[in-house]
Amino acid sequence: MITCDICKARPAQFLQHHAKRRVCKTCFENDILSRVKDTIKRFNMISEGDKVLVAVSGGKDSLTLLDILANLMDNNKIVALSIVEGISGYNREEDVALVRHITRMHGIDHLVVTLKDIIGYGVDDFMHAQQKLKVRSPLSACTFCGIARRRVMNSIAREIGATKIATGHNLDDEVQTYIINILRGDIVRLIQSHPLSAPHAPSLIKRIKPLRYVYEYETTIYAYIKGFHFQDTECPYINQRPTLRAKIRSMLIEIESKAPGTLLNLITYLDTVIEPLVLKYQKESITLPQCTKCGEPTSPKRTVCKFCTLVDLILQASRVGKDG
Ligand SMILES: [Zn+2]
Ligand SMILES: [Zn+2]
Repeated sequence: MITCDICKARPAQFLQHHAKRRVCKTCFENDILSRVKDTIKRFNMISEGDKVLVAVSGGKDSLTLLDILANLMDNNKIVALSIVEGISGYNREEDVALVRHITRMHGIDHLVVTLKDIIGYGVDDFMHAQQKLKVRSPLSACTFCGIARRRVMNSIAREIGATKIATGHNLDDEVQTYIINILRGDIVRLIQSHPLSAPHAPSLIKRIKPLRYVYEYETTIYAYIKGFHFQDTECPYINQRPTLRAKIRSMLIEIESKAPGTLLNLITYLDTVIEPLVLKYQKESITLPQCTKCGEPTSPKRTVCKFCTLVDLILQASRVGKDG
């Protein structure tokens, strides 16, 4: 029997490549919990009095996040949110049922909403609209989905008095985001993706990513240990995922496999060197303009926000054929 490298007592069950050690189930769980706890503390993600809305997709990352926060926080201060995107063949009852199982186990409130209920349209509606309008270079489903989900999360958070929105982005996701922004030379986004950056409008609720220092392979192990039979059907729009992110993802996987621990080193390094920029940028306190249609904050130099532009496409499509 190979014993755990941490407790030196129980049998080792999992290999943590990045730390070059074999660990037992208990030590693995404790390691993840303490790493998330440290991340929350290091970036002041959750303070006393905060109410946290946890966006749960039904995938392994968000289920892991929900379970970890339930173990670390007062469960009355957590609300889980499932957003049904309106993608036919993808949104399954079982995914919501699994989230419900976890929330009941911990006594956490669980809200289920559909994009259609809240904003009037789902992802399929948007894709059909672009087809109908024969848009020459159509936007990806992920673009609409991302913007619509963020809008819904923010408005529900405001409605229920949540002061933070937590999402299940893991270490791999966050390093990819940093690299994309660096390659694009997008300093504004680079700073915004730092965990200490503050939202630029009072109506925007701060988003936090407590799994920022947990590898994707570790969330898979965690979900497996907990017996979460998470959603493994791929979104039918997966081939529309941004290609740059996919390329960077496979590049990073290759680097990590040759030199385990690289991604963890990289995010630790980038979080440290970008921090002074965040603090400087924060002082300049940019106030975002308001969208003339919906009144929500929009990007500098825009009069109508991206969300309203996308919804307008759907409205245009619905008029096609009616006008003659
Ligand atoms: Zn152990
Ligand atoms: Zn708008």
